[in-house]
Amino acid sequence: NSHLNPKYTFESFIIGGANKMAHAAAVAAAGEPGQIYNPLFIYGGVGLGKTHLMQAIGHEMLKNNPNARVKYVTSETFANDFINSIQTRTQEEFREEYRNVDLLLIDDIQFFAEKEGTQEEFFHTFNKLHENNKQIVLTSDRLPNEIPKLQNRLVSRFKWGLSVDITAPDLETRIAILRNKAKAENLEIPDDTLSYIAQQVNTNVRELEGALLRVQAYSAMKNTDINKSLAADALKALKLSKAKNGLTVSSIQNRVAKYYHVSIADLKGKKRVKTIVLPRQIAMYLSRELTDRSLPQIGMEFGGKDHTTVMHSCDKIAELAIKNDDVKQAIGELRDELKN
Ligand code: ADP
Ligand code: MG
Repeated sequence: NSHLNPKYTFESFIIGGANKMAHAAAVAAAGEPGQIYNPLFIYGGVGLGKTHLMQAIGHEMLKNNPNARVKYVTSETFANDFINSIQTRTQEEFREEYRNVDLLLIDDIQFFAEKEGTQEEFFHTFNKLHENNKQIVLTSDRLPNEIPKLQNRLVSRFKWGLSVDITAPDLETRIAILRNKAKAENLEIPDDTLSYIAQQVNTNVRELEGALLRVQAYSAMKNTDINKSLAADALKALKLSKAKNGLTVSSIQNRVAKYYHVSIADLKGKKRVKTIVLPRQIAMYLSRELTDRSLPQIGMEFGGKDHTTVMHSCDKIAELAIKNDDVKQAIGELRDELKN
């Protein structure tokens, strides 16, 4: 019950220029846990293989030593377990569980931000494991010092080991990933078609896998073999679904500006007052949801902001949309207005 996905092994991980450093570091950490890079911090955008690589370390350790105690959790699970342990007065068990492992994998650590108590608890977990030379592996969508509200003492500890990034795979790697997937699924796909799909989808591996699934489903529906023109038809439908609502970032900015009685200039500007920051972040969030623009493209349309700013805004609003009733209602109303 280490909660590892059986598919996420080193064997099924395709190595390319964009991930070879991270892969090498993961292999090293799995071979000599706690000895070389502790912690190992893997960061990068969504769908690039962070979770896969991190879990591969767990599989490898279990292969070398079936008695190894491997624990994989997302940062949300860690936080929830911690909170539950307080409510049920089982903090001893919680500590027992997290501090007596040989390998602790915590996924998407950026969601720790803003959770003071959880960070405090994790600080002690980290120290205990590190003292005992137990391997710690963390992933995040960005570097430790770029995670807002992450305590300095955690930032500095995360830098004790090695931080490696994973970036978007190049065309050759994307083709290799597709070929591997097709083989695993027993799909007959000609090389020119694999290369066509890999050229069309250049964002991340998860979307690449999604595209392959879509082509597969389309071929089943049409009851024909997979070839390049079938793939083109299948992927056209995919592209249209986001673009067809006709919404642009600027139409979303207009709506949001009216709704909150602020100016477009302020939405695109740099003012930090709450009455402007919230509408600005909501406009970014809706742009991400309702258009096919990328994070950097959205940043450009908001006065040339960095893609990490857009990403942070989207995270922030996603969280508020759960916790804050006003924000939830505003987003609901704006979304309805925009879609009609
Ligand atoms: P992240 O955690 O960075 O968001 P994941 O590890 O969940 O990304 O990867 C998304 C999907 O892409 C998974 O199904 C994973 O197996 C696959 N994947 C990512 N990178 C590779 C790779 N280099 N080789 C094979 N599959 C990969
Ligand atoms: Mg992940």
